[in-house]
Amino acid sequence: MATKLFDVHNHAQRQWAQVHGDRTRITLPQTRCMCVMGTSPEDWAWVQSMVEQLSAPLSTATASMDHESHDSPPHLVPAFGVHPWRIERMLGDKDCAALHPVPASVVMTPPEIRAQLTTMSWYQRLAQLLDSHPHAIVGEIGLDKSARNRDTGSVYPFAAQTAVFRVQWELAIAKQRPVSIHCVKAGSYLLQFIQTLAKDWQRVKKLHRARPSSSSTAAALRAHANTLLPPKIMLHSYSGSPDILRQLFQLPVDIASRLYASFSEAVNRRSPQLPERIHAVPLDRLLIETDENSLDDIDQPMEAILHEVAKVRDLRPSELAPALFANACRFYF
Ligand SMILES: [Zn+2]
Repeated sequence: MATKLFDVHNHAQRQWAQVHGDRTRITLPQTRCMCVMGTSPEDWAWVQSMVEQLSAPLSTATASMDHESHDSPPHLVPAFGVHPWRIERMLGDKDCAALHPVPASVVMTPPEIRAQLTTMSWYQRLAQLLDSHPHAIVGEIGLDKSARNRDTGSVYPFAAQTAVFRVQWELAIAKQRPVSIHCVKAGSYLLQFIQTLAKDWQRVKKLHRARPSSSSTAAALRAHANTLLPPKIMLHSYSGSPDILRQLFQLPVDIASRLYASFSEAVNRRSPQLPERIHAVPLDRLLIETDENSLDDIDQPMEAILHEVAKVRDLRPSELAPALFANACRFYF
């Protein structure tokens, strides 16, 4: 494989945990850059150890890559977050059941829910990890109305998901980090939430309308958007309605310009709606990923999804790959 690729979302720390962090027991993939997504506090430690022991400096990721050989260390971006499937176990049944939902129609998490969550040890650890890893992003966070807890057979409690999602979203804003979002059968919540933020942005725009338009107005509106949304937002392995994507990308530019969507072989390939989803994303906002758990399973699925997206967009893989790589670098750095 000669193409430079960036796997924007995987869980290779699971293999790293299995080999107990022994780098002699892993084979590095040809895919030179990737983001390793933590999903729970136990998982974060493996992301941290993998990135600290295996990664080349991220500051050189874009500059020096053309001169690197295939056996030089890869560039691993760490991601720390709580996945919707991990909330119940992390909080315990009692704390989980005590959480009230955060409606999609409110701009900020209500103070009592914020206070409940942000004083917990997992939240404080997450904030510390972001501080100690300046390139780290917030992920994998999200909303899932479909998956079921294998032990109980019930879907994961959505009220708690909204609360934990929203405080992590706000942490990403506070630390100015991108987010990677898992969203399954919950696209209407996410769309309504981002539309709520867009309305708040429009409200501030109206306040400025009375004054003559100037560059300071544009700067003030961008600054307001920075208080509402993280700097970059990725919908990872997006499997929802193409119409939701179209609506999101049509929002005002201060909001829509932050959005990216990523597709994978593992999650998206078999869906008949994949071409329509790919077409709903502007070319400069498309990303590809594996969502795999091992460095052994990166290169082949990356090639496969690259070819799939190229076919849909009527481009040669060799033309598309540099554009996708540039998108990923813009997202992460
Ligand atoms: Zn994932």
